[in-house]
Amino acid sequence: MKLIDGKSISAEIRREIRTECEAFRASHGYVPGLAVVIVGDDPASQIYVRNKRLACEEVGFQSVVHALPASTTQAELLALIDALNEKPDVHGILVQLPLPKHLDETEVLLRINPKKDVDGFHPYNVGQLIIGNPTFLPCTPAGIMELLKRSGIDPSGKNCVVIGRSNIVGKPIAALLLAANGTVTVCHRKTKNTEEIARSADILVSAVGRAHFLTADMVKPGAVVIDVGMNRDENGKLCGDVEFDEVAPLTSAITPVPGGVGPMTITMLLANTLKAALRE
Ligand code: NAP
Repeated sequence: MKLIDGKSISAEIRREIRTECEAFRASHGYVPGLAVVIVGDDPASQIYVRNKRLACEEVGFQSVVHALPASTTQAELLALIDALNEKPDVHGILVQLPLPKHLDETEVLLRINPKKDVDGFHPYNVGQLIIGNPTFLPCTPAGIMELLKRSGIDPSGKNCVVIGRSNIVGKPIAALLLAANGTVTVCHRKTKNTEEIARSADILVSAVGRAHFLTADMVKPGAVVIDVGMNRDENGKLCGDVEFDEVAPLTSAITPVPGGVGPMTITMLLANTLKAALRE
């Protein structure tokens, strides 16, 4: 069994981005810029935003955090997005989700210029992904593909099973595995025989969000298991969907939680921001 070390792969990619950022500065006289918009004071969102700002600093990007009060109106938020769309030193715009309930997330995401949509959530970029002409990939699925690539795992011709069909993980990772010539099955709550389908997988991606979900009886010996879940167990400890101790010995490769998919997400945001600046 090979442990797919997301922490070290992520560090390696950040070093590459840092080098590219220096080259970008040398040729353009400025650095890639990311604007992060956060509304309200959700503690988890504040930690995510802080980590994104620190990651930008680490690779040499400019980052500006726009922290708006929970009372911000839809019109005020849209006006900020419009202003950021126009700013030449902002190459990427990220609106931290979830937004407070009174705000319309869909309208806000639609307002971001697709050329600055470094989260890859704008329907234009989602469409580009589906038709096989991707520009900005959503960060978590992009991170999974990078983990596979850098671990020498090629989905081509493999049975790939994705459990979960959210817009941010399940659907886009299914599209990416298909684009990489995998034969893809997606399971969800209404799937009748998820256990059996999971057992047919050469590459099994669990994006369910439930501790202890994926057990040894759902895994074919030799499969690659990617655990996207970020959950708390009974003791409040961070864990994935996968019952790691019993599943890992069966696999040919597996991502741990923490230290697997998690570290890749912000790194791919950096990669998208660099891409946005280079394309501009
Ligand atoms: P989500 O929107 O809640 O989606 C969960 C999916 O799992 C749904 O499609 C649901 O099916 C499916 N599901 C739930 N129970 C199931 C069951 N018993 N059998 C089969 N399918 C089942 O979650 P998400 O946003 O995709 O996130 C999933 C997990 O990944 C969470 O733990 C989240 O914290 C984590 N995550 C991690 C990262 C990272 O950077 N590592 C990034 C994003 C998310 P239905 O559609 O039928 O309801």
